[in-house]
Amino acid sequence: LFVTLEGGDGAGKSTQSALLTAWLEEAGRTVVHSREPGGTELGLELRQIILHRRGYIAPRAEALLYAADRAHNIATKVRPAIEAGSVVIQDRYLDSSVAYQGAGRVLDGGEVRELSLWASEGLLPDLTVLLDLDVAVGRARRDADERAWDRLEAEAQDFHQRVRDAYLRLAAAEPERFLVLDATLPPEQLAAAIRDRVERMLAA
Ligand code: C5P
Repeated sequence: LFVTLEGGDGAGKSTQSALLTAWLEEAGRTVVHSREPGGTELGLELRQIILHRRGYIAPRAEALLYAADRAHNIATKVRPAIEAGSVVIQDRYLDSSVAYQGAGRVLDGGEVRELSLWASEGLLPDLTVLLDLDVAVGRARRDADERAWDRLEAEAQDFHQRVRDAYLRLAAAEPERFLVLDATLPPEQLAAAIRDRVERMLAA
């Protein structure tokens, strides 16, 4: 089972993936957690470039750096784990690229998706949880969290609004794959909704 968490900054993806991981492990499942960018050693080096390099990165170059991170993460970590019967929980995947590199940087979303599918040899998640959050609320949450500077901080509200809108369009286009949740709900309530869906998928 391959589960991805998506949503804007401050939506609570890492909190929810930690809660879901703990619950699955409690139930005796082997869980592998990954994230993009930066799920592997090579990925961490790419993440450093993608997020912390000062100065302009051309949108297509950015999309290719994310795709390189993705290709390596899927080939060396995610696919082997799925084949070994583990549940893989991952913060961000191809929908992030369609939303950020596509809608955010204004590249063609269909092309970005094709690039991602090429990078991953066509791997799609079984379930994608979209933690949907108002852009201004996300910004406030992010500002309260004293993380190191990254390149996305310079982006204006309309960039993040395009990202949110793109996520919602992706979810509407694939209602079977997506579980859309209101990220302002209490974390425990969100966790229960995610557990409920995952439990049914594991039982099926
Ligand atoms: O989720 P995480 O904090 O690891 O993401 C790091 C940064 O990279 C965030 O600012 C996120 O918006 C950005 N990002 C992006 N395109 C992606 C994935 C993440 O711009 N495909």
